[in-house]
Amino acid sequence: MTQLPPPPALGCGAAPVLKERGQREVFCGLTGIIWLHRKMQDAFFLVVGSRTCAHLLQSAAGVMIFAEPRFATAILEETDLAGMADAQDELDREVGRLLERRPDIRQLFLVGSCPSEVIKLDLGKAAERLTRVHAPHVRVLNYSGSGIETTFTEGEDACLASMVPVLPRNEARQLLLIGALPDVVEDQALGLLSQMGIDGIRTLPARRADDIPSIGPNTVYALTQPFLGETHAELTRRGARHIPAPLPFGEEGTTAWLSAIAREFGVDRDTFDAVTEAPRARARKAVARATETLQGKRIFFFPDSQLEIPLARFLTRECGMDAVEVGTPYIHRDIVGPDLDLLPAGPTISEGQDVDRQLDRARTARADLTVCGLGLANPLEAEGLTTKWAIELVFTPVHFYEQAGDLAELFARPIRRKEKLKLKEV
Ligand code: SF4
Repeated sequence: MTQLPPPPALGCGAAPVLKERGQREVFCGLTGIIWLHRKMQDAFFLVVGSRTCAHLLQSAAGVMIFAEPRFATAILEETDLAGMADAQDELDREVGRLLERRPDIRQLFLVGSCPSEVIKLDLGKAAERLTRVHAPHVRVLNYSGSGIETTFTEGEDACLASMVPVLPRNEARQLLLIGALPDVVEDQALGLLSQMGIDGIRTLPARRADDIPSIGPNTVYALTQPFLGETHAELTRRGARHIPAPLPFGEEGTTAWLSAIAREFGVDRDTFDAVTEAPRARARKAVARATETLQGKRIFFFPDSQLEIPLARFLTRECGMDAVEVGTPYIHRDIVGPDLDLLPAGPTISEGQDVDRQLDRARTARADLTVCGLGLANPLEAEGLTTKWAIELVFTPVHFYEQAGDLAELFARPIRRKEKLKLKEV
């Protein structure tokens, strides 16, 4: 198979991990609904929560007046929270009204929130009951997006994990791609694999309920996102086998990810090279433009999206950056182990958050670029640090060869902007 650059003499795979268990500053898992509802075109997400949850969703999603929305919040009123009303009955009525009005809905997710967790509203039971009422046209599932339990990308993980136990069984040898990618990006990956002769690939989540994959002991799967730890565990429980690989960010990551799949399916080296040569060259060229800005710059990651380790690997190995600290909410070694091995030793690897202590480290480091959540970005900018919002990395198409240049640009742009502002000040 195509030669990849050699791994570093010493990677971060065996590096000590600074474990932090203090206050954290991240969005909750409800945020994932914003990209999941776009991907799953006949799904509806009903958050069982408070007005705060409704505001979060509305402001994160922008205004959606142009179409029938595919998410909403069933507001828990004070009477529900005080246990004075039967929230389960109300939920049944709300769902009944919704499904009567919207026959296009085929999958309904009841999404738990902090308030529903606090009053211990059993949404699992509600989902089972409502599935009995509305099957076979609609399947009702539930997961938690509560800020008590989840950081923002864990919402997608919880959603996909809720789907796995009810996937139909299938004994056939097949490949699943796991993770919600924009359709155009997903099609690029499917196209490359198909050119290598790997066909019949299914995806989770599927775009429509009728395309939901089946699963069994001869299923192998590749993850496209590093934050799918629970989904990974559920898939393994169903007997499917993970294909470990670096995540498909940048030219190197995409090639390593494709080549792990190609090895699994016995694709010969000439075919692999013929399929990947041109897009690899395009990706290298596109990344090189941003590398002029990024080369030698220092980067500090606060823990937000769980994309931090694969992105640090991309930015250090392909863009010439130096990582000072790579913070991430959780380290799933089964998933990000290959990226950790490729990340050259040196940065502090931290897991979890103690925001005040980490702010102190960020201020001491004064890196050229600090990747953090929205809540920390403005105060840090006011202190003269250049920041990048972690959430943009999830909302922007950044996977595979054709997006490698855009991915590098996301990091180069704030540095260029800061340099221009400095020139103006002079
Ligand atoms: Fe806030 Fe919790 Fe609702 Fe998220 S789930 S918006 S953290 S109340």
